[in-house]
Amino acid sequence: MEFWIQPCAPCADLYGQPATVEPHDTLTLNGTGAVKDATTEEHYTCLRCGGVFARLLSGPSSRQIWMLLNAGQH
Ligand SMILES: [Zn+2]
Repeated sequence: MEFWIQPCAPCADLYGQPATVEPHDTLTLNGTGAVKDATTEEHYTCLRCGGVFARLLSGPSSRQIWMLLNAGQH
């Protein structure tokens, strides 16, 4: 498993937002070669806190959100 990170403020804000929201400035798009299907999902890594996001781009609109994959849950 990946280690758990403590999300920085922009990541905490982005978590759970609709996928139509633009990534904040320290998020970088991961290489699409590693993604199984880049048309349905994009992965981003935050340079500030190391948070890894999945931006879900397919399925029901209620599921097209920004998911933080490695944040600790409280
Ligand atoms: Zn962050």
